[in-house]
Amino acid sequence: MATIGQLLYDPENDPAAAPAVPVAEITPEDERFMRLAIEEARRGLSTPGCAEVGCVIVVNGAVVASGCNEVELRHDPTAHAEVVTLRKLGEQIGEPEFRGATLYCTLQPCGMCTVACLWAKISRIVYGATRTDVHSMYFDTRHFDAADLIRDSFRDDIEIVGGVLAEECAQLYYRPEDNPPAEEQKNQ
Ligand SMILES: [Zn+2]
Repeated sequence: MATIGQLLYDPENDPAAAPAVPVAEITPEDERFMRLAIEEARRGLSTPGCAEVGCVIVVNGAVVASGCNEVELRHDPTAHAEVVTLRKLGEQIGEPEFRGATLYCTLQPCGMCTVACLWAKISRIVYGATRTDVHSMYFDTRHFDAADLIRDSFRDDIEIVGGVLAEECAQLYYRPEDNPPAEEQKNQ
């Protein structure tokens, strides 16, 4: 049974917790590849059944796979842009692990995609818009997020950095002050 302390735990006010978005180095290359992820997001926006989240995976300075959200197209709740792109890379190279790869995504990855990156042995996750840049409808939980999952994972060879071209990425989405139609709010 949970203790009262556990029930009252507020991760946003935990002095022992690291910042929500860990400070990691953003390289000039990161912006270049994020622009390609934005192109994927725009492709998603204009493709029936797809949605405006884009992803590219980069190995040794080259894009090796790219994708967008295909949830409606595939009738698959797990077909987020990151999972779609991880699957494409796995099929392409015939391996399930991608050590040394960097995954770029236009939006802060959800819990499912962050853990998929952990299992895929992705080395770096770089995302654009953060959860404070966009409407809460894009997230699975109120507080717990990608950085928490990375921080608490068994891996010490993975890093995550957010806010790369954040404003440009955020323009693809509803903003915190917007009032999206209820049927578009998939997290409820
Ligand atoms: Zn996701």
